[in-house]
Amino acid sequence: MSAQFDQLATRILEGGAATEADALAVLQAPDFDLMSVVAAAGRLRREHFGNKVKVNYLVNLKSGLCPENCNYCSQAIGSEAPILKYSWLSKDDAIKQAGAGLKGGASRVCMVSSGRGPSNRDIDKVVEMTEALKDEYEGVEVCACLGLLKDGQAERLKAAGVDAYNHNINTAESNHDNIVQTHTYDDRVDTIGKAKSAGLSPCSGLIAGLGESDEQLVEALFALKELGSDSIPVNFLMPFDGTPYENTWELSPTRCVKILAMARFVCPDKEIRIAGGREMHLRTLQATALHVANSIFLGDYLTSEGQDAKADLEMMRDNGFVILGQENAFNDGTFDDVFNAPSAGAAHAAATTPCGSATTGCGTSCGGCAAGLADDAVAEDHKPVIRQRGAGTEVPANA
Ligand code: SF4
Repeated sequence: MSAQFDQLATRILEGGAATEADALAVLQAPDFDLMSVVAAAGRLRREHFGNKVKVNYLVNLKSGLCPENCNYCSQAIGSEAPILKYSWLSKDDAIKQAGAGLKGGASRVCMVSSGRGPSNRDIDKVVEMTEALKDEYEGVEVCACLGLLKDGQAERLKAAGVDAYNHNINTAESNHDNIVQTHTYDDRVDTIGKAKSAGLSPCSGLIAGLGESDEQLVEALFALKELGSDSIPVNFLMPFDGTPYENTWELSPTRCVKILAMARFVCPDKEIRIAGGREMHLRTLQATALHVANSIFLGDYLTSEGQDAKADLEMMRDNGFVILGQENAFNDGTFDDVFNAPSAGAAHAAATTPCGSATTGCGTSCGGCAAGLADDAVAEDHKPVIRQRGAGTEVPANA
């Protein structure tokens, strides 16, 4: 095993910092060195976060119908992905949806709406929802993700009790205009600055797999470091049919782990969150990735299904992790009902592929999940499954 990454971790633990060359070396490490990378990045993870996993839960307050043209997004103008489309959830429905995630182990609720940015009336709605949520669930963290902010809006969110604001840079500045043309990289940076100035914790991250080079991934991570992002969601492109990135599969499970490890080396004490695309891209390496990242989303994503919340909880428990804020929950019976219940998505998965691996990675020796870069058959198996439960439906949430 290579000592190079262990030495890098030691240097960082002693107060040094990863250089761009270090980050590139992590990203370009041969697959046979993967476990040296994980072991070294895991030292930084354990130093700052121990064996705790922060669990986040997405509530899609308003879905689809967006006038922006982010090419990766199933909600963008021009997207023909058959996603749920609805306008604002009522306050009560938003609280009900958030409550499902909180009961499932989440400590942070991410309240998201599609669109270029909120109107002041939209801010009124999120203010009311936040106040009601904080009244009902003591200690809950709220992150708002509403698009580009105008002057004064971040301050209103902060005053209502919102803790954090998410606005991803998504990719390197040098790649930004290839993925969206209706707003600029500077627009995005401006909103992160507004959130930060208002005292909101900045949450900003990436989407990997958008045609970027290795150097551009490094560029994006150093930009996030410079911006002072407290939480860094690392998304892996979900190539929805009906979007410009349909059938774009650039990632392998080992590359995804290396991207997360690179994020850990560059920003050792920040929350590195495995975000959208976790199941389809990391597949059987999801748990390995948790040894370098310290945060995940529970259950479903904005417009697509995640693996069963039960599988998320089992993955954490079985690998010796505990949930931040509920450190004894795997031992005190909190989730016994969940662990003893049949999988919510089992019937769906069984109907989708012979081994049930469409959204979860089956963990068996069927071979469907074992490929490196996805071949056509594997890609077909792991395509995004459109969310048809939770927010915007009458079907119970996956939480
Ligand atoms: S990422 Fe946000 S702004 Fe861009 S198309 Fe999707 S919902 Fe609209």
